[in-house]
Amino acid sequence: MAVLPITVLGSPVLRQVTTPVAEVTDELRQLAADMFDTMRAAEGVGLAAPQVGRTERMCVVEVGDVAAVLINPEIIAREGKIKWEEGCLSIPEVFGWVERSAVVKVRAIGLDGQPFELEGRELLAVCIQHELDHLDGKLFIDHLSFLNRRKAMNAWDDEKDKYPGLLRILKPGDTDEPKGRAAASDAPAAHHDAL
Ligand SMILES: [Zn+2]
Repeated sequence: MAVLPITVLGSPVLRQVTTPVAEVTDELRQLAADMFDTMRAAEGVGLAAPQVGRTERMCVVEVGDVAAVLINPEIIAREGKIKWEEGCLSIPEVFGWVERSAVVKVRAIGLDGQPFELEGRELLAVCIQHELDHLDGKLFIDHLSFLNRRKAMNAWDDEKDKYPGLLRILKPGDTDEPKGRAAASDAPAAHHDAL
């Protein structure tokens, strides 16, 4: 098990367009396993390669009982609209409402090198779109209105000094949600999903 450092906002790799994977190698399988470990340690529901400083076109998602590695993913169908309050493991403690497609179907290559399709709705759909954005160097804050983006940036100003070297090093017991948060608010913590 290897929990990798997570790159945070300001790290140039988060703005880089990733490179399609030519071949599924053992090294890539190890990276996928490490990305799962990292996502789970951070209590996220998705993680893309640039968030661990890599440029492979690959991400992992885990929502409910669906856990998947998506290599060279592309969305082949979308339906409806949904608004979700998103967070990002690379922008801790910053949240914003983003409108996305309510249902998406994605085609990707799996760790066995074979193509497959995955359909997601609600949080899984949001997660897939958020992670695919990462693969194109895009972040959820790019989807916010001018005012909401400014709010998000102000919130990040208060947070960013916690991440010297623009890296978020997870320690055992670390979570995205401070323990008091859910209790202090009526809003269900599940609405703050870090991706
Ligand atoms: Zn993210």
